Amino acid sequence: MIWRLVTPVCSLPPRTPRSVTRNSSSLLEKLRSPTVSDCSALAALVDEGTIVTAEDDPDLLARHNVDWKREYHGRSTVLLRPRTTAELSGILSYCHVERLGVVPQAGNTGLVGGSVPVADEIIVSVARMNQIHGLDRTSGILTCDAGCILSDLHNYTADRDHLVPIDLGAKGSCMIGGNVSTNAGGQYFYRFGSLKGNVLGLEVVLADGTVLDLTNTNRKDNTGYDLKQLFIGAEGSLGIISKINLSCPRLPSSRNTAFLALENFDAVRRTLRLAKAELGECLAAFEFMDRAILDLVSKSRAIPISMDGSTLYPFYVLVETQGSNGEHDSEKMATFLERAMSTLDVVDGILSQDIQQVEEMWAIREACNPAVASEGRVYKYDISIPVSDYYEIVEEMKSRLGPARPDALVVNWGHVIDSNLHFNVTTPGMFEEDPEIVSLIEPYLFESVVRRKGSISAEHGLGQCKNEYLGTLAKSPTAVSKMRAIKQLFDPHYILSPGKYLPAK
Ligand code: FAD
Ligand code: ZN
Repeated sequence: MIWRLVTPVCSLPPRTPRSVTRNSSSLLEKLRSPTVSDCSALAALVDEGTIVTAEDDPDLLARHNVDWKREYHGRSTVLLRPRTTAELSGILSYCHVERLGVVPQAGNTGLVGGSVPVADEIIVSVARMNQIHGLDRTSGILTCDAGCILSDLHNYTADRDHLVPIDLGAKGSCMIGGNVSTNAGGQYFYRFGSLKGNVLGLEVVLADGTVLDLTNTNRKDNTGYDLKQLFIGAEGSLGIISKINLSCPRLPSSRNTAFLALENFDAVRRTLRLAKAELGECLAAFEFMDRAILDLVSKSRAIPISMDGSTLYPFYVLVETQGSNGEHDSEKMATFLERAMSTLDVVDGILSQDIQQVEEMWAIREACNPAVASEGRVYKYDISIPVSDYYEIVEEMKSRLGPARPDALVVNWGHVIDSNLHFNVTTPGMFEEDPEIVSLIEPYLFESVVRRKGSISAEHGLGQCKNEYLGTLAKSPTAVSKMRAIKQLFDPHYILSPGKYLPAK
C-alpha cells in the first residue's frame, strides 16, 4: 500500500509549554481532581488494563499528556482506554455524577491543544476501540469504531476497491474519531467534500453516559434534526464519538501527479484556474508550497526541480488527477501541462510515471509539517483566505515581522484550491515560546483574515488555542450564545473538554 506513517511524537525535540493562563476557565474550578478512590471506582467499571496511572506506566501517561507539537502539556494523573461503548458509557456516567473533567483523545495529532488536558482532567482515549465492522461494496458505506487509525482504514478500503474520502499527513497516527471530531480537511477536500457530507451516521456517548445511537447506513435520510452534525467538528465538547458510518467512493484506477514550479503567485492563481478548466471532473488535488518551506523540507529529502540544481523556485504546486480511465486522464493532464507551460506561468515541472513517483511527490508535501516542527519553535496558523488575498497576507506578515524579528522564518503551504493557507512562523534553533513573536502575530493576523473575509481556522479547529477568539473574530454573540445553550443541553456540568472550544464566560 502507498500510505506511510508520520514522524512519531516522541522524536520531536522538547518544547516549553504554551501559556494557558489566557484560557483558564472558571468552569475548571467547578470540577474536582480525580482521587485514589475515583480510580478504584472507575477500575470496577472497566476491564483490567483500561485504567493507567503514573504508578502503572508513567511514560504512557506522559505521552498522552502532551500534544504533537509538544506545546500544550496537561497534568492528568489518569488515562482510561475503554474497549467498548458500554465501558465508555460507564466512565462518562461516573465522571458526570462526580464532576470529573474529561478530555476525549484519539490519535493526539491535533494542532490546537484540544486533545490534551488543560489541567488534570481524565484522559479518555478511544485508541482501543478500533474494530472495523465492514464495508458494503455495493453502497460503499464503511462502519468502524472511532479508534481506527486513518491509514488502516485506507488499507482496508483499498483492499476492497474503495477509499476513505479524507487524507492528511498525520494518517499514520490520527484516528477516524479524531478526524470526525475536528471535521478534518486534508488534501482531497476539494475532490470528496467535507466529513460533514461523508459521515452518514454516528454512535455517540454523551457526557452523562447516555448512548445516543445516530448510526445510519442510508445515503438519504430526511427525518428530524440532523443531530450527528452537532458532533462533527465539536472537538469532543458535546460527547465522545464511538462508532462511525462513512460513505467511501470507489478507488480510482488512474492517478497522475505533477509537481510544478512557478515564478510568482499570480501564476499560481492562473494555473489553478487553468487546472479547473482543463482537468474538470478528474481534478483531485491542487496543493501549494512556497520556497521557504521547501528549503526546510530539502534538508531531509531531495526536491526534484530547482533552477540550477540547487536554487529553488519561489513557488511550487502539486496537481493530481484521479479517474477511471488512465488514457483519458493522462491525455487531459498532458493538455493541461502543455497549456500551463505555453503561458510561461509554469516554468518547470515533472509528471509522475508510476505510483511510486506519485508517492514521492506526496512525500514532499507531507514532509512540510514535520520539517517546520523540527526546526525550532513553530507558530502555526491555519486560515481560510480568498485566493485573491492568499499570498498578499503572507507578504503583509513578512513586512510586519521582518524589521522586528529578522530571525523569524515565515514558511507556507496549503490547500490553495480550498483557499486554505497553512501560515507558519518558526525561529530556527529556538524552541521556547517567544512572547514578542506571538504578540506580533496575534491578534493582528486574525484581524487581517477577518478584514479579508476569511476564517481564523480552516481545518484545525479551536481547542485551547483559538477558543477565546470564537466570539470576537469568528461568530456573532448570538451564535455563541446558541452554542452555549447546546453545550448546556448536552453537557450540563461542563465535564467535557473544559477550558476549550467555547470562550470562557
Ligand atoms: P486528536 O488530536 O486526538 O483529537 C482532536 C480533537 O478531537 C480533540 O479536541 C479531542 O478532544 C477530540 N476527539 C478525539 N477523539 C474524539 C472522539 N472519539 N469523540 C469526540 N471527540 C474526540 N488536520 C487537517 O484538518 N488537515 C490536514 O491536512 C492536517 N494535516 C496534518 C498533518 C500533520 C503532520 C499533523 C501532525 C496534523 C495534521 N492535521 C491536519 C491535524 C490533525 O491531524 C487533525 O486535526 C486530526 O483530525 C486529529 O485527529 P486525531 O485522531 O489525532 O485526534
Ligand atoms: Zn491541511
